[in-house]
Order: sequence, then C-alpha cells, then structure tokens
Amino acid sequence: MMSAAALEGLLRSMPTFHPGQVWLAGAGPGDPALLTLYALAGLAQADVVVHDALVDEHTLNLARPEARRVFAGKRSGQPSAHQAEISAQLIKFADAGARVLRLKGGDPYVFGRGAEEVLALAQHGVPFRVIPGITAGLAGLTMALVPATERGVNKAIVLATGHGGIDADGVDSLDWVALARLGQPIVFYMAMARIRDIAGALLAAGLPGNTAAAVVASATLPEQRVLVSSLAQLADEIARRGIGTPAIVVIGETVRMRARLLALLPQLAEECLALRQF
Ligand code: SAH
Repeated sequence: MMSAAALEGLLRSMPTFHPGQVWLAGAGPGDPALLTLYALAGLAQADVVVHDALVDEHTLNLARPEARRVFAGKRSGQPSAHQAEISAQLIKFADAGARVLRLKGGDPYVFGRGAEEVLALAQHGVPFRVIPGITAGLAGLTMALVPATERGVNKAIVLATGHGGIDADGVDSLDWVALARLGQPIVFYMAMARIRDIAGALLAAGLPGNTAAAVVASATLPEQRVLVSSLAQLADEIARRGIGTPAIVVIGETVRMRARLLALLPQLAEECLALRQF
C-alpha cells in the first residue's frame, strides 16, 4: 500500500495554473494512465484545452466539465498557415485571462511543433510552462517489448520523421546513407504513408534486407497491434495486414528481443500486453 500522505503531498505540490498562462503539455502516447501528474494538474485546472487529433478522448474527459475544448488538428496541405492560427488562438485565450492547456500527443517537443508555439507565446509575452510527455516512439517500443537500447546491440537510437523524409519532388531530406552507416535503430514517426519509399531508400543506402523491423500501431491503446518483419518485407507486410495509423516503425536489431522474450515465456504476451479497459 502506498503512502497516502506522500501521495497527497505530491498532489499538493502541483503548480497552480494562473489565469493568462499557457501550459504546453504532452499527453503521452494514448493511454491516460501514462499522463504525467503535471499534465493531469493542467487538465484539472484549465479553462480551455486546445488539443490535437492524437489526444485520446479518455484523456480529454479528465478535463473539468466546464472547460472549453478546442480541436486544433492539422489541415493537410497548409500546415504552416494553420500553425500560425493555433498560436494566435493560444495567445488570444491567454490574453482574455483563461488558463490555457495546449495538449499534444506524446511529448510536445518531439515532432509536435511545440517549439514554434512556445516561441510565439514568448514573443507575445505570454507566460508558459512546458510539460514533457512520454513520446510514442519510445512508449511504442516498450509496449512491443523492444528495448530502445540494449547493451551490446546499440549505443544510439535515431528518432526520425518519415513525413517529408523523401519530398514530393523526390528530393531526399534525410541522409539515408549516413543513417544506414550508423547501424543503429531508427524509429520513424509519421512514416506509414511513405513506408515503401523509406524502406527502399534504406535498402539502397546499404542496410541489409534482413535487418529486423517492426510496426507498433495505436501503441498503449486497447487496439494496439505489433507487426514484426524485416526491412525487405516491411512495406508488403504492412499492406497485406492493412495496418493503419497512428503507428511508429522501428528498423534495427533491438527488435529481435521481442521474439526472444516471447519464445521464453509465451504467456508473457498476454500479461505484458494486456491493456487496461476504460
Ligand atoms: N509528439 C508526438 C509525435 C507527433 S507526430 C510524440 O511525441 O509522440 C505523430 C506521429 O506520432 C504519428 O504519425 C505516429 O507515428 C506517432 N504516434 C503518435 N501516437 C501514437 C501511438 N499511440 N501509437 C503509435 N504511434 C503513435
């Protein structure tokens, strides 16, 4: 039994959300139990919650019933214009004296454009706080029993975006040869739409076709699915199984730990991957 007094003390130590402030918080990968206490304190006090599409409904339901919810999903085709609109909206709410919780999936600073929003707030003199969240790339690996680092296997891990990795005009914006030569696991966010091109680029850059690869879709949510494959087979397997988004893709030898663990203890699959029902 945990110490109720210590827990109360911790909860009491949560900061007060002052009117006119913006808290930019990570909501974690999906499961509300993976929120931080800071994010929870933000939800408990916010007047306005401005959230992305990836923030789970069960997380949003933790906000005060009277809090206003504002959806600020990305409109494809004009991300930059929309980003400026979101920042302007945050400033407007804060200027009006609201306690504004800007809630983003995962960590706000990992492919979340959090830096741009904070910069806009700072430029307008709006007081803010940034609250880290568990990023989907790392939580997804852990949920799939794939270690982000494993002694003797890797000394680094790359977090990369698959979106724009190969531009629409065919120009590469990631150095695929350097990534392949690094020989360290690469975790791709936003990669599903271009997975065939990405895998092809890494193969062409010299990464062996039998390099282990995995996809973790809807990590930490009840509908989580994991696919283990190889770099050469990955795109075909994803298509064949119809795996959807959100999903992270990991390419690297640490993926093999999953099969080793499951072979040792098959029932682990159910126990470890059993997810809480809402
Ligand atoms: N800031 C977020 C990432 C935003 S980019 C973070 O730190 O996690 C959006 C991408 O995140 C998606 O395309 C997907 O690749 C990944 N993602 C987010 N939630 C996910 C989830 N529950 N399972 C798998 N991937 C997820």
